[in-house]
Amino acid sequence: MTSIDSIVIQKRPLPLPDGSSDPLFSRKFIKKTARGKVLKVHRERYLRDDIACGSKSCKECADIYQRHPHLPQPCLSAKGITNNTKVTAPHYLVLDTNIILHQMDLLESMLGQADSASSSSSTSSSSTALPSFVDVVILQTVVEEVRHRSLPLYNRLMDIVKDSEHAARMGRSDQTAENRRWWIYSNDFARESAVARRENESPNDRNDRAIRTAVKWYQGHSPLDVVLLSDDADNVARAQSDDIQAMNVRDYVAGMPAADKLSDLISSREAKSSTDKGSGILYPEHLPVGQATAAIKGGLLHQGYFNASAFNFLEATVKVPRYDKPVILIGRDSMNRAIDGDVVAIEMLPEQEWKASADDVLDADSALKNDDAEGEGEGEEDNEAVDDAEAKLDKKEKKEATSSRGERQPTGKVVSIIRRNWRSYVAHVDASSVHSSALGAQSLFATPVDRKVPRIRIRTRQASELIGQKILVALDDWRPTSRYPDGHFVRALGATESQAAEQESLLLEHDVPYRPFSRAILDCLPPEGDTWVVPPKDATHPSWRGRIDLRDENICSIDPPGCQDIDDALHAKQLPNGNVECGVHIADVSHFVAPATPMDAEAASRGTTVYLVDKRIDMLPHLLGTNLCSLRPFVERLAFSVIWEMDPKTAKVVDVRFSKSVIASKAAFTYEAAQLRKDDSSQTDAITTSIRLLNSIALKLKAQRMANGALNLASPEVRIHLDSPEAAGPIDVEQKEMRETNSLVEEFMLLANVTVAEKIYSAYPQTAVLRRHLPPPRTNFEGLQDVLKKRLGFDLNIDSSGALAKSLDTCTDPSNPALNTLVRIMATRCMLSAEYFCSGSVPRDTFGHYGLACGMYTHFTSPIRRYADVLAHRQLAAAIGHTGPGATLHASLADKGNVDGVLDVVNKRHRGGQMAGRASVEFFVGLSIAKRNEAAKQAAAAKGDSKAAAVVAGQDFRLREDAFVIRVFRNGVSVFVNKYGLEGLITLPAKSGVQCDLDSENYTVTIPKELSGLGKDVKLGVFDRCTVAIGVEKDRSTQRKRVRMELVL
Ligand SMILES: [Zn+2]
Repeated sequence: MTSIDSIVIQKRPLPLPDGSSDPLFSRKFIKKTARGKVLKVHRERYLRDDIACGSKSCKECADIYQRHPHLPQPCLSAKGITNNTKVTAPHYLVLDTNIILHQMDLLESMLGQADSASSSSSTSSSSTALPSFVDVVILQTVVEEVRHRSLPLYNRLMDIVKDSEHAARMGRSDQTAENRRWWIYSNDFARESAVARRENESPNDRNDRAIRTAVKWYQGHSPLDVVLLSDDADNVARAQSDDIQAMNVRDYVAGMPAADKLSDLISSREAKSSTDKGSGILYPEHLPVGQATAAIKGGLLHQGYFNASAFNFLEATVKVPRYDKPVILIGRDSMNRAIDGDVVAIEMLPEQEWKASADDVLDADSALKNDDAEGEGEGEEDNEAVDDAEAKLDKKEKKEATSSRGERQPTGKVVSIIRRNWRSYVAHVDASSVHSSALGAQSLFATPVDRKVPRIRIRTRQASELIGQKILVALDDWRPTSRYPDGHFVRALGATESQAAEQESLLLEHDVPYRPFSRAILDCLPPEGDTWVVPPKDATHPSWRGRIDLRDENICSIDPPGCQDIDDALHAKQLPNGNVECGVHIADVSHFVAPATPMDAEAASRGTTVYLVDKRIDMLPHLLGTNLCSLRPFVERLAFSVIWEMDPKTAKVVDVRFSKSVIASKAAFTYEAAQLRKDDSSQTDAITTSIRLLNSIALKLKAQRMANGALNLASPEVRIHLDSPEAAGPIDVEQKEMRETNSLVEEFMLLANVTVAEKIYSAYPQTAVLRRHLPPPRTNFEGLQDVLKKRLGFDLNIDSSGALAKSLDTCTDPSNPALNTLVRIMATRCMLSAEYFCSGSVPRDTFGHYGLACGMYTHFTSPIRRYADVLAHRQLAAAIGHTGPGATLHASLADKGNVDGVLDVVNKRHRGGQMAGRASVEFFVGLSIAKRNEAAKQAAAAKGDSKAAAVVAGQDFRLREDAFVIRVFRNGVSVFVNKYGLEGLITLPAKSGVQCDLDSENYTVTIPKELSGLGKDVKLGVFDRCTVAIGVEKDRSTQRKRVRMELVL
């Protein structure tokens, strides 16, 4: 037997193309880490000469792919790009960094045309959407720069590259939607194209040179031409003087087959000119970020998120650490081109210039309706309406400053933008900004659905086609010379009001990922698919290893009607010693979702399943969610069980054990069915007994929780009945009903979550995945306390969650039962939202869950639809020494930085998902109201005689409902319609010489009869009830539909 003692690998740097040695080959330097540790770094770079060009027709590289079958296989088509009229020779494209950073929407677009030669052979390919940009080379230099500049763009880039790699590996045809043929060339590691930074050369210039060197190499090496696409005029010029074909994006797109449509997608940031200064400056210049951050550190400026007002387009707030109250920004100059969500640096105004928040509703749509989108750059035409609005505001500010009314707040102005947080915005084209006579490209306004975002000027050639459509728009730039930000059209979502367009737009608005699961993800599922079953019992089989057999226990599930993803089930039984055994069994999702697989990565980036009224966007593929991991009755399923021994008199836990298990649920109940079963004394079977045992303990658990100060909060939950998922109606809206059995399930899930939280925290004190709810700052309640005191004479005690709970219980009005719900909703809005966190990243004394009044909490019970639960499952399995798959904790879950990063995304997705769900409910409530109104009108018309038409015309068929006033303005009130959980703003028409009398101190507004439309003066205060007529109407210029309310008697 021979043994090898040691292997020595010796590598020597290869010389650079010009014969010099690579100065980057070996670099030693000292680096200080963020925590102050000093590291000696010795970095070596080895150049290789086996880096392939990616072209299918390249003979030189052919053997590289054979030698390295695990590396990406060539994907660039043999014939290259042949249909660009500006570049007649067949070619590949090489993209400069600026193209990826600024033109991603264009690059991702699907306006490509099937190749005529191959489409004649295949019959139906001409109808499928194809990528516009194919046969593209991405240089490693560019990948690194993009990764450094923008992680979201880097991810979008890598998605395309991965799809291309997958398609090449699977040998897909060149003419498919996912096959973009994008190839990464590691130019920095290739001997032929690596460049070292020269003395006195900026990193930027080095990168530009690296790109040109690589293109030059491709030109000599590749069988086809290459074209460098760049919007950096200098780089283009230098490339051309090096005999490289280089073009800017606009010129190149002009030669493409779909040039007209594609040019709409070009970001207006291309070829930014530095000569934008001079005349027509409308906004103060921004301080450079470096200067601003230094001033923030020095305490001269303050940093925070820019939060635009949804009521008043000329007002915003920024919460900064220095002040308890948010800093208010009033007027366009102060807001200085910041957009909702941006991180800004603000400068405070001197205290004598502090102002109060305006009491007016200022709607940008009507105030700005005469603006002209074509009014470009220098000396943009001043707009009377805006000036008027701003002048009024200014006058009012002055009045406000001198009058005692209205509480003055810290006031400031934006002086720098630290970080833009722009996303894509769903918008409508403002028809009034379209010049119908204009042919070719024109500028027009896109009005975002999000009221906090200003109108965006876009340039398009398809203006008339876009009217009446929902479109996706991206922001590019906001120059100081321009009244409005500039953006570009991304794509049309469909006709406004069409259910598909509405649904997609609310997913986009709330950043909910909804692409179908890719092949690579679906490949992670068990190959048996639907036919997968728990294998016969065998302690050595991976599916059985380390599991207990609970198939004989009387386990059942209790869920809302129509529930398909059953992730929890329960059981209880009397023990011989007089105690009770209770078990919670949760779908063992982590058995199927292994860490660091494509499916795991996708679930992590989705974070949660999102429930819309008529659709569910799954976190995990359907097969798992509604089948293999759904604890359906009468089938064996893998579960993760928490089993307690409890004292039935006190509901105290005597003992607890955790184990993975195999269960076979004996029944799936709805809340209602379980309740009936429990209440029917003639039933005495084991399942019913089990439900009764669980219920009696749940009642005690709940009583204890309430005694500890848990809050019973309310949110306007309405249930929408759909006739069929496809049809938009008829539909009905009702408030959700709570039964005892809802509570039963809830109590045991809470108990399981608390128990698991304690277990994983004791095992992994630094990286346990937990959930907390911070107590709200007292100042959050000041407004609500004041209005409750003044309007209802009620004292809200917020000393602790227990005091608040008690206090909310007593805030009732027997003649007005809905009032209590409203007050709870308003109290809930004063609170912070709960969040996931990594136990090692926050102080121990901030772990608590305020709403649930418990010291430690996590999410364990819904791993099918929440990713945090999957992580908790993995940690629990490792903590209890599970012996089957997943026994050892994946390294990523023992790394604090990694857990923090994953939970950041999950938290964001969780919020987005909830908001999307609510927006979906709102949309359907609106539909339902419109339908009812229409039906009432039809019914009246049908009944009518010859005068019917006249009667119908004169009559108001809008739905009338009871509402509460929840806020008063100088020119309107906002109201809450309890029945629909619907909030609405009633604005009053402006009439010269007539004004409402607002008493902001006492939260009332007196509306003179000239404005009320009711033939008398009306005084309304917060919490007053009123009747509103609810209609749904369309804004004439944007086609935007909205619920409109009006006061009626
Ligand atoms: Zn090659």
